[in-house]
Amino acid sequence: MAPRCSPDGRPVITGYNFAAGPSVLPEAVLAEAREGLDNWAGSGQSVMEIPFTGEAFARIHDEAVATLRNLLEIPPDYHVLLLQGGAYGQFSLLPMNLLRGRECADYALTGHWSQRAANEAKRYCRVNIAADGASSGYTAIPDWSAWSLDPTAAYCHITTNETANGVRFRELPDTGRVPLVADITSDFLMAPLDIRRFGLVYASAQKNAGIAGLTVVIVKQALLGRALPITPTVFNYELLAASNSRVNTPPVWAIYMAGLVFKWIQAEGGLGEMAVRNRRHAGWLYRTIDESGFYHCRAAEAARSPVNVCFELPTPRLERAFLAEARERRLHNLKGHAAATGLRASLYNAVSESAVAALVSFMRDFALRHASVA
Ligand SMILES: *Cc1c(COP(=O)(O)O)cnc(C)c1O
Repeated sequence: MAPRCSPDGRPVITGYNFAAGPSVLPEAVLAEAREGLDNWAGSGQSVMEIPFTGEAFARIHDEAVATLRNLLEIPPDYHVLLLQGGAYGQFSLLPMNLLRGRECADYALTGHWSQRAANEAKRYCRVNIAADGASSGYTAIPDWSAWSLDPTAAYCHITTNETANGVRFRELPDTGRVPLVADITSDFLMAPLDIRRFGLVYASAQKNAGIAGLTVVIVKQALLGRALPITPTVFNYELLAASNSRVNTPPVWAIYMAGLVFKWIQAEGGLGEMAVRNRRHAGWLYRTIDESGFYHCRAAEAARSPVNVCFELPTPRLERAFLAEARERRLHNLKGHAAATGLRASLYNAVSESAVAALVSFMRDFALRHASVA
C-alpha cells in the first residue's frame, strides 16, 4: 500500500486521527481512490468526470448498494436511497416524508443530535417527547419502562449513538406498531443491525461510510407515497426510490467512496468482525480510563458509547496540556464536541489497533506524570 506523499514524492507522516467526523478512512480505500481520481477502471477518466446518467455511474451506484445490502442483510422491501443534505437535512425530511397524514411524532431525547432532530421536526408536526435524558445530564439512556409513546404518532425517532455526549442504546425500544426511525450516523456499519426492527434508518457518510456529501437512507416501502406537498422534489423518498436516487445529480464521488468503504468492510470480514474489533478497542480505552484514577467518564457504564469515548481530566488546564502533548505525538482531533466539555476519542472502523495502542500508551504516560500535580 502506497504511503501518503507530498507533491515532491516524499512520504508524509500522518499520525493517528480520532476525529468524530469527517473521520479517518482506511488506507486501502484511499489508495484505491487515487485510481478513481485519475483513471477509473482503466477508462482514462476520473470518477468525478463521468455523467451520472451513464452506464459507468450506474455500475458504481449498483455495486455500492448491492454491497451495502449484503453487509446489512437488508430485506427486499426496503429501499436504499443515496442523497445529499446530511443527517441534519434528514431531521426535516423525516416528518416531510413520513407523517402520512398524521400530526404527531415521538422523539426520545438522549443528547445533542436527538435534540436537534426533535427541534427541526417541530416545524412540521407536533412532537411528543417520549423520553428525555435531561435528569441525568444526558449521561444515560432513559429507562424504557418510563417512556410515554403517543399511539397516534407517525413514527418514533431515536439516535442510536450520540456522537457528542458519548452514550449509546444497548437495546432497541419496542415501539409496537409505530415505526421506529433512527439516526444511526455514528454507529453505522460498526456491528450487525436488524433492519426489520426499523421503518427507516439514516446516516451521514463521513463518520463511517466515506466522505461528507452523502446521506444513506434505508426505508421500508410501506412508509412511502404520502410526502407533504411542500417536500422538495429532490428529497422526496418515493421519487428517489423510483429513480435509483437519480432525481437530480447525485454526489457521484461520495457514492464511489462509500462503495469502496463497503467493499473494504466486506473484505475485512464484514460487520461481525467490525463489532469484534470495536469491542476490543473500546474495552481497552475504557479500562485505561477506569483504572487510571485520573481520567473520568461521565456516561453511565450501561450507556457508554463504544464509538465516541468521551472523558475528562481533573482540570481544564490539564485538558489543554493533554491536547498539546497529544498533538506533538501525532494523536490528532481528541478535543470533545463544541457543545460538550472534555475530550473524545472516536473509534470508527478505520481506526487501527496501532492507533488505539498509541493513544492508550500516551494516556497512561500522561496520567503518571500529572496525577500528583492534579
Ligand atoms: C454528525 C452527526 C449528525 C450531523 O451530520 P451532518 O452530516 O453534519 O448533517 C447527525 N447525527 C449524528 C448522530 C451525527 O453523529
